[in-house]
Amino acid sequence: MIIILTPSATESDLQELVQNLKDRGYGVHLSRGVEKTIVGAIGAPDEDKATIAEQLSSFNYVERVIPILKPYKIVGREFHPDKTVITVRGVEIGGARIVVMAGPCSVESEEQVIETAKAVHSVGAAVLRGGAFKPSTSPYSFHGLGEDALKMLSAAREVTAMPIVTEVMDTRDVELVAQYADILQIGTRNMTNFSLLREVGLARKPVVLKRGMSSTIEEWLQAAEYIANRGNYEIILCERGIRTFETFTRNTFDISAIPAVIGLSHLPIMADPSHGTGKWHLVAPVAKAAVVAGADALMIEVHPNPEKALKDGAQSLKPDTFAQLMRDLSACAEAVGRQM
Ligand code: PEP
Ligand code: MN
Repeated sequence: MIIILTPSATESDLQELVQNLKDRGYGVHLSRGVEKTIVGAIGAPDEDKATIAEQLSSFNYVERVIPILKPYKIVGREFHPDKTVITVRGVEIGGARIVVMAGPCSVESEEQVIETAKAVHSVGAAVLRGGAFKPSTSPYSFHGLGEDALKMLSAAREVTAMPIVTEVMDTRDVELVAQYADILQIGTRNMTNFSLLREVGLARKPVVLKRGMSSTIEEWLQAAEYIANRGNYEIILCERGIRTFETFTRNTFDISAIPAVIGLSHLPIMADPSHGTGKWHLVAPVAKAAVVAGADALMIEVHPNPEKALKDGAQSLKPDTFAQLMRDLSACAEAVGRQM
């Protein structure tokens, strides 16, 4: 349930309520909005909820007690009506400016990642992406350079001052990846890896949570709830396409998921048209559509020589095509009251 406090509630009122809820066995989550403080009380043994709601309503600083019927609670709009803005090394994700995270699918060498970082940074990308631990459907394809790649990403951050986002696949690697990365990524294949979700929920780094390729929006938000439930509220949801009967594109990019998520959750929503389409010439139109649909951020694969890329060359933009897209996106952002 959520408990909305009156505007005149004091800090000691809040502490009294929090203690009361903890004594009843609830996990307590706070949302301090511009106008209201909302307390989320989650996961207590199933007693008579109506009676508890009535008891809590008797506090003079409690305005309303509302049951949350949805299967996700902390990440829902009821708990936190204002949009969440996540700040990473000065980059605001979820604010008025659209954030572009760009870079190679996989880190292949220090030269490759630094060259790409400089190129995308010079035309306005704010975050550098690059895979160090690569998930792969085939056991025979490239699996990334591991910690060496994390060091190369850090070197690129030194040069450009861009924060870095990279995937973590294994609970045993969360600490290591978090030592280097500014944002941890959970890939589509791990969206329902609940031990990994719990582990990044304990990390003190923001998390990009990609939508599972066969997951509904509600399942995706519940995966986010696993992370938030452990105390990490800094989650960026990423639509990256889902499996359908269509095979011309690698996945079917679900554009409607963007406004749907905006209605259901306060978390920033990102679009990945690279994995969403699998074809470089489809990336720009889908990126533009995503911005117009309300995306807060884009994740785009860029490679200096896509024809030599160890992974995902077919969907990678060359630096000059990426630069053109960045120019074109300004008008799309403006059309929906945002900036690039
Ligand atoms: C990636 O971003 O490198 C990646 C593997 O994406 P996904 O998990 O969406 O396939
Ligand atoms: Mn990729």
